[in-house]
Amino acid sequence: MVNAIIFGAPGSGKGTYSALLKNKLNLNVISMGDIFRELMKEDTSLGKTVKSYVRAGLLVPDEITLDILKQQIAKIPKGYGFILDGFPRNLAQAQALESIAKIDVILQLVVPDWIIIERVSGRRLCRNCGAVYNLQFLKPKVDGVCDKCGGQLYQRPDDNAEVIKIRLELYECETSSLISYFKTRHVPIIIHTSDRLQIPPETVVDYFVAELKKLHLV
Ligand code: AMP
Repeated sequence: MVNAIIFGAPGSGKGTYSALLKNKLNLNVISMGDIFRELMKEDTSLGKTVKSYVRAGLLVPDEITLDILKQQIAKIPKGYGFILDGFPRNLAQAQALESIAKIDVILQLVVPDWIIIERVSGRRLCRNCGAVYNLQFLKPKVDGVCDKCGGQLYQRPDDNAEVIKIRLELYECETSSLISYFKTRHVPIIIHTSDRLQIPPETVVDYFVAELKKLHLV
């Protein structure tokens, strides 16, 4: 059983890799972005509050985020580990996490900005099942339709050039201090650096699994 955090800029492939690792290692994936996008669909005051932050490319307040995280971790069956995607995003969240769960390892994706911008501008998601496509290199069989469930594909409103720049700046800012923080806590960090636009996801996942084995974490 391993509890991991995956760090990577928006569009670095975190969601894809986490989903593959989930199947390989029997993990739960807790993606804060996905959880917030689900909440945004609801016509509730929480949904509206979350929407106002996400649409602007800003972080949702820690109080709301931590509450949601605690609920998610509490749902995980005994004996199962997890991958946190999109959490923590600041030092206050990292510190709060210590009292919620023990983190065994950090998985870090290092991807140059030009690759991120190419990927994010072509990214499309299924409204129904959340599957991720890319208009350049992971096209659905039928335009605008999910291969897996037939749902309608859409572009995230925050996947546009203006907002992505804000999100990349935010990411750089928040991640450097978080990586330093986990280093001081002696949490091992496995880094994967991308140098190409298209790397088969399995290659990255196999690399992570091999490194986790070396650390005797799986
Ligand atoms: P993501 O899918 O990880 O890019 O997240 C999309 C948006 O959800 C972010 O731009 C934030 O507005 C919000 N969000 C995701 N994770 C967090 C977090 N840990 N704390 C606060 N807001 C978050």
